[in-house]
Amino acid sequence: MAEEIAEQVPATEEKVEVKVEKKKFFKQHKNKKKVCAFCEDKNKTIDYKDANRLKKYVTEKGKIIPSRQTGTCARHQRELTVAIKRARNIALLPFSGD
Ligand SMILES: [Zn+2]
Repeated sequence: MAEEIAEQVPATEEKVEVKVEKKKFFKQHKNKKKVCAFCEDKNKTIDYKDANRLKKYVTEKGKIIPSRQTGTCARHQRELTVAIKRARNIALLPFSGD
């Protein structure tokens, strides 16, 4: 049983990446207005240790996705940027490249 759970972990990480790609695709073709995810849900906090959440706001190459694509407001985008940079420093997120 323990082995099965361990095998499921990488699969969920892949799903997260696919989700981000879908979002990008959607945004480029339809101009639907998005609200800031952090303003919408007050329970969501920007934490530099929370790499899984921060991953949604960086590209596969490690670049930070601009707020006009994610719909994040200026205030939260700023906090996000700081968090991503901190996460990079402690090697939770890549600086660049594959
Ligand atoms: Zn916000």
